[in-house]
Amino acid sequence: MTKSRNPKLTTPHHQVAIIGGGTGGLALAHGLVRNGIDVAVYERDRTRSAGLYGYRVGISPDGSRALFGLLPADLYATFVATAARQTKSLSFLDEKLRVLLSVGEADGLKTGGDDPIESEKSVSRMTLRQVLLTGLEEVVQFEKTFSRYQVRPDNKVEAFFEDGTSVVADVLVGADGSNSRVRGQLLPCAQLSDTGIVGVTGKVALTDEVKSLLTPELWNGVALIFAARGYSLVSHTMEFKWNEHGPKKGIGRTEAELIKKWPGLLFDNTSDYFMWGFAGSKKRLPVDVMPMRGADLIELVLGLTPQWHPHLHRLFELADPSATFPLSVRTAAPVAPWPTGPVTLIGDSIHTMTPGRGVGANTALLDALLLHYQLVEACEGRVSAARRGRGL
Ligand SMILES: Cc1cc2nc3c(=O)[nH]c(=O)nc-3n(C[C@H](O)[C@H](O)[C@H](O)COP(=O)(O)OP(=O)(O)OC[C@H]3O[C@@H](n4cnc5c(N)ncnc54)[C@H](O)[C@@H]3O)c2cc1C
Repeated sequence: MTKSRNPKLTTPHHQVAIIGGGTGGLALAHGLVRNGIDVAVYERDRTRSAGLYGYRVGISPDGSRALFGLLPADLYATFVATAARQTKSLSFLDEKLRVLLSVGEADGLKTGGDDPIESEKSVSRMTLRQVLLTGLEEVVQFEKTFSRYQVRPDNKVEAFFEDGTSVVADVLVGADGSNSRVRGQLLPCAQLSDTGIVGVTGKVALTDEVKSLLTPELWNGVALIFAARGYSLVSHTMEFKWNEHGPKKGIGRTEAELIKKWPGLLFDNTSDYFMWGFAGSKKRLPVDVMPMRGADLIELVLGLTPQWHPHLHRLFELADPSATFPLSVRTAAPVAPWPTGPVTLIGDSIHTMTPGRGVGANTALLDALLLHYQLVEACEGRVSAARRGRGL
């Protein structure tokens, strides 16, 4: 990879252009910036707080290790400080909230305690994005919807956007999620299979009424409810160390300081919430949930669950319609290795997985770590000539 901008080019030129400012793309950008690599991220959302629902993402020790390797040390500390209260149990319940099985730390459930790297963390997707955008203000461009790319005769890639602009890069990284347009062009044969499962995810502000509805299993950790007709529900309680007034009383001084000076706090509208994710087989649902939104989705879930515990019903009723969204669960069919070139893919763009596995974001972060090592090596001239000839 060349290290400096080419003044002869009329379009902007970067060593690395990343399409998609989500989990993987932003984490990769941090690693590259830290190594002095000239990188730009192009994100279709209009602003840094647009287009995202505040659902919970579990970051495993693998994901934390990747972030630790990519982020500046103080930003990693902010990531840890902005995680929600740790999950202390995993419970299996029926729709009447009767406990089938519940395991906690005493039963061997591994949480990693408060170790900053080895602990399991619950983060809100919106908060994670605000953390990852911190320090990348000059690197990320919003309102840039990628449409296609072209590999030029000099082996550089030109990426074109819907607004008529383009950028030239030595390497183009598709980090544009499960409906990736970069993948569509690079690997048209790569397919997503529909699992036939659809879901509705809702979010309820953690008010006193909501707290009173939560049994210990719903309050303390992850709860999985299995009901008749193959319907299921996953729930998480998300309590953070800050509220609209800033850091909460009683949290550690270092964490309070980190949260206070974190610029992302201005853009993050997260407050404590209870999250539920209802799922069922498409075949068993009376309608197609994908075109539905807000209050209609909540009504649908209420109608499908007449026999469920009244507390669950109330939690459905109290969900914020603007944060309720449908989900079609898809999974990527494995693809054969493809020839190395100046275009590559990370995260959901190449391996969409069902959210039920809780590994999509963690794997996107690992991809980012591994690709960042490769790109740094290429920049430092430590990759073979053959690979350099093909784009690196
Ligand atoms: C309800 C739910 C719960 C989940 N829970 C977990 C969990 O507990 N643990 C876990 O590891 N994973 C979880 N996941 C999965 C995880 O969110 C994804 O795997 C992860 O976000 C993938 O990261 P990514 O960077 O590949 O894609 P994304 O984070 O989806 O980012 C893609 C970005 O590309 C942008 N984009 C798309 N198209 C274009 C375009 N044409 N031009 C420019 N920009 C574009 C998008 O706006 C987006 O910002 C969950 C997912 C869901 C839906």
